[in-house]
Amino acid sequence: MFGEFDTTLTASSRLGEVNWNDLGFGAWYADHMFSMVHEQGAWGRAEILPFGPVPVHPANSALHYGQAVFEGLKAYRGVDGRIRIFRADMNAERLLASCDRLCIPRIDPPSFTAAVSRLVALDHAWVPRRRGEALYVRPIIFSDEGHLEVRPSRRFRFLIMTSPVRAYFDTGMKPIALKAERTYTRSAPGGVGYAKTAGNYGASLYPGRVGQDEGYQQVLWLDGIEHRYVEEVGAMNIFFRFDDKVVTPDLHGTILPGVTRDSVITLLEDAGHTVEQRRIAIDEVLDGARSGRLREVFASGTAAIIAPVGVIALDGHETAIANREAGETTRWLYEQITGIQHGEIADRFGWCHEVVIAEHAAAE
Ligand SMILES: *Cc1c(COP(=O)(O)O)cnc(C)c1O
Repeated sequence: MFGEFDTTLTASSRLGEVNWNDLGFGAWYADHMFSMVHEQGAWGRAEILPFGPVPVHPANSALHYGQAVFEGLKAYRGVDGRIRIFRADMNAERLLASCDRLCIPRIDPPSFTAAVSRLVALDHAWVPRRRGEALYVRPIIFSDEGHLEVRPSRRFRFLIMTSPVRAYFDTGMKPIALKAERTYTRSAPGGVGYAKTAGNYGASLYPGRVGQDEGYQQVLWLDGIEHRYVEEVGAMNIFFRFDDKVVTPDLHGTILPGVTRDSVITLLEDAGHTVEQRRIAIDEVLDGARSGRLREVFASGTAAIIAPVGVIALDGHETAIANREAGETTRWLYEQITGIQHGEIADRFGWCHEVVIAEHAAAE
């Protein structure tokens, strides 16, 4: 899609301001961002600019009508000093599906990967050094036109920003408590559940806050029709290990197809385990917990990688899972995925895209 990047370097780096002992999530942004505008039916110049505010028209329709999609992926500094971006090609593919659903023009996958990799290479000094920490990469495409008609916009902006982020579990894996949500729904058949769109998050805030006020870190979303079948956890996918079989909800349009979810399935199958993708009723989960057949529950997503689940509450009744401890499959998966990301375990599935720093630096 593009060959040349117009690059404007920052006059003064903010790297020295970062408190590396308190990275948080999205508290700091690297020096540069990627920007590209779509107008008159085509994407324009690919630019790298100093990170900073972007002016938008007050009638910007992403603000008014939610025409925006985004992605989330991470770059890791390996034990060998090399920087690896995890499965950017899969994020690029998922972005196509999100774009199509929201009437947003597509970014072709090789251009997406090139833009991410170029930006990370330029700001490579922002990739944190401690295991589990990463440079979070946030691409977003939003309507960049002011109009109040309800119609797809004619102008869009594609931005990529990066942010050094903490390790989700910096003091060992602490199982999370979930509230199975009976009243509110995240997604419904025919809706936008499979798209990573801004509106899905806006709509999830209130149920999330109610759950947190009741003492649960995340909402366990059930299906939008019967409130009976398990779908996702907050913004993570979910897995159940019954005896020696791992089960996860199948993708049928209401669930976000997680890159980490796919990585979990691939690793388990490669190790000879059976992974079933099917509908799972919340009753089956709770019966399994009571009978002891349910050995582990964990969630997967780019932020936490793997998060063990220790409690599930349904209609005010709490059920403990696996003595509220992280199980062996949960731990093994966390070690495998983070091991591959940090270059400690061979990348046998070709998941990591190594960032070539010298070449990019020389080209600046
Ligand atoms: C992003 C997201 C996930 C996790 O996807 P990953 O690619 O593994 O980070 C799961 N559910 C929802 C709703 C999401 O937005």
